[in-house]
Parts: sequence; C-alpha cells; structure tokens
Amino acid sequence: ALLITDECINCDVCEPECPNDAIAMGPDIYEIDPHKCTECVGHFEEPQCVQVCPVNCIPVNPQWVESRETLWQKYHRLQTPT
Ligand code: SF4
Ligand code: SF4
Repeated sequence: ALLITDECINCDVCEPECPNDAIAMGPDIYEIDPHKCTECVGHFEEPQCVQVCPVNCIPVNPQWVESRETLWQKYHRLQTPT
C-alpha cells in the first residue's frame, strides 16, 4: 500500500482517481486505507494517485510493503462482494 505524507496540500485531485476508493480526507490531510490500496494493481499500470499528485508526497507505506502477488490477491479480494 502507498502512504500520503504530511507534505500533502489537500489539493483533492487524487481522491477521485483511486479505483479502489482507498483515499479519504483524514483529520488533517488525505489518507490512504492500506486495506484497500492495491497500488493500482488490477486497474492500472501505475499508481494513479502518484501520477496526479502535484507535490509527490505518496511513497510506499513502510509498514505495508507488499509483493505484486499480495497486491493481486488484495485486488481479487476487493472484487468479491461481502
Ligand atoms: Fe488508490 Fe492506486 Fe493510489 Fe492505492 S495507488 S491509493 S489504489 S490510486
Ligand atoms: Fe495530497 Fe497529493 Fe492527494 Fe493532493 S494529490 S490531496 S497533495 S496526496
């Protein structure tokens, strides 16, 4: 999963781009739900939020480093209705 750092300027452009609805406004800045972020695996070649972020504040979450396979599994899990 990716992570939004405190360099975020709350410009709002990433939130609508996320195919997994993983981005939401937090108490101060936008936040990514690591349970929902597949790093765009299953949807796009590149993480869409990283593509649009004007201040480049979306690195990999060091607490949630995942292999491509794990990200695919998350993608498939998210497609399954609960
Ligand atoms: Fe959403 Fe993709 Fe960004 Fe993850 S990398 S938060 S799935 S847009
Ligand atoms: Fe914050 Fe970047 Fe998203 Fe803008 S695009 S709200 S600066 S994380």
